[in-house]
Amino acid sequence: SSRSPAAIRVQNLDYAYPDGKLALAEISFTLDQGESVALVGPNGAGKSTLLLHLNGILPGRPRGGLFGHTHGAEPVRGRPRSPGPHVWVDGVAVEDRSIREARRRVGLLFQDPDDQLFCATVLEDVAFGPRNLGRSQADAAAIARECLARVGLPDVGDRPPHHLSVGERRRVALAGVLACQPTVFALDEPTANLDPRARRLFLALVAELPGAKIIATHDLEMALELCPRSILLDSGRVIADGPTRTLLDDSALLEAHGLERPLSLALGSRTSG
Ligand code: ADP
Repeated sequence: SSRSPAAIRVQNLDYAYPDGKLALAEISFTLDQGESVALVGPNGAGKSTLLLHLNGILPGRPRGGLFGHTHGAEPVRGRPRSPGPHVWVDGVAVEDRSIREARRRVGLLFQDPDDQLFCATVLEDVAFGPRNLGRSQADAAAIARECLARVGLPDVGDRPPHHLSVGERRRVALAGVLACQPTVFALDEPTANLDPRARRLFLALVAELPGAKIIATHDLEMALELCPRSILLDSGRVIADGPTRTLLDDSALLEAHGLERPLSLALGSRTSG
């Protein structure tokens, strides 16, 4: 039996925004099936830009398209510096002829849930993805109800998304991602702006996600908790790629790239040293 392809393979990915700003340079890494990796680095490192490449929103993809929940990002006409695919999801190249195949495998959770939620009701929003994947209205609604229950919000289906708290909206957005049954979850700052209880709740949901995960985050405690591996980006480049514990215990490395050693590691070394 042949080995299954990597969940994500990125090979020599470069990307410049239309204004010429080089946002990603020579990015290469592989994420195995079921693996969880944290993408860490200072503001502007290229984390969001990298996640957007996983489902081909960049460069220059039409907004929305046949697969839903990509409408948060405005189309931008940037350019890759060399031709040919540079990103594969489950072995499927993220390029024109297979973009739909690739895209349905990636569940991208935007940093701002308001970029993801746009329907009149929560249920419609969560059902949007399955509808676009060809499910009947009744099936899509049933899937949406099930996914809302999975994120602990079985009773909000009839409400407008903007009436919910930011924590609830992020869970609804996650339900929408789950409803598409992706094999890879790409989460952009999933704990940003959450209070401790909402954060804890969301961490538990992320821990349960069935598939490979790539999580862009400044929440290094979350990285320690959920991701055995981390990739440190700065100025669009991979600076380090290794065990989260090793990477995040390296004060000099972190400081050189605008980060701080997580408190839990600092305390741990103090008590054991
Ligand atoms: P991060 O998510 O790590 O904060 P981003 O991927 O948002 O980093 O940004 C990487 C770089 O690309 C930054 O220099 C940022 O200013 C630039 N950038 C991001 N979005 C755009 C855009 N739409 N147009 C031009 N430059 C952008």
